[in-house]
Amino acid sequence: MVMDKKISELLKLDNKVAIVTGGAQGIGFGIAQRLAEAGAHVVVSDLNKEVCEDAVSKIKEMGYKASSYILDVSNEDQVKSLIEHTSNEYGSLDILVNNAGIYPRIALANMTFDDFKKVLGVNLNSVFLTVKYSSEVMKKQGGGKIINISSIDALHPSMVGLAHYDASKHGVWGFTKNAALELSQYGITVNAVAPGGINTPGTHTDTPSEVSKEQLEAATKAFMNKIPMHRFGEPDDIGKVVLFLASDMASYMTGSQIVVDGGALLN
Ligand code: NAD
Repeated sequence: MVMDKKISELLKLDNKVAIVTGGAQGIGFGIAQRLAEAGAHVVVSDLNKEVCEDAVSKIKEMGYKASSYILDVSNEDQVKSLIEHTSNEYGSLDILVNNAGIYPRIALANMTFDDFKKVLGVNLNSVFLTVKYSSEVMKKQGGGKIINISSIDALHPSMVGLAHYDASKHGVWGFTKNAALELSQYGITVNAVAPGGINTPGTHTDTPSEVSKEQLEAATKAFMNKIPMHRFGEPDDIGKVVLFLASDMASYMTGSQIVVDGGALLN
């Protein structure tokens, strides 16, 4: 059995450049911190300027490399500019993490076509756009790692009111597999991570007006009761798995989806 590198070497991302979309808070910030700790320069890309700049300051205070880029991931021109800016400014684009996503709970009966298109735009169209443009850069470099944050809802619905979200996340998983098939000849791997319930600012926000604070709390409690590990995950639970996929530890993986849910899908 030949071992190519020591574990500490395998996990190193020195001289790598990573983009994390939706990296200002929650799961994205957890991912950005782990990639930066491993040595990558992380371009934290987000819609929210204030929170994004604060996240970058925190990463820099830890002694790691990061910069902010403000965009809407569902906008093609803005995604193109993000990819161009990153490869021109930092010399390469080695890791792309598609994490930005929204999950407003709306019953199907009240869901407008605009509601549906908005969720598909942010959660799925963005994955097409970032993968399309970043893979061109990665092909020229001779490889890269793409990690899409899907959800356990890509496999099984977690609660009512997320029909648009579940459509988008099933789409992310399907897209991940086909992109992996096409891009592996260029040394580009494409994998997905499917989180279960994770403690983030987004899960504590009752975005749609039709869901009251009490209803949200009841749904959260019911979900918690289904988790065999009896706790919600933390952003770092996802950050560690994304680091694994972004590193040489995952050298023979593409087109896979890792479920990180404390066992929730078992129930
Ligand atoms: P969050 O709401 O806490 O953070 C999301 C971040 O994305 C925010 O900083 C927000 O400003 C940014 N964002 C939203 N729309 C954007 C856009 N159009 N362009 C750029 N940035 C945008 O969310 P979270 O809970 O950390 O979720 C992150 C990802 O993980 C999402 O894709 C979500 O579907 C997925 N996920 C979350 C959970 C969970 O329980 N938290 C479970 C499964 C999957």
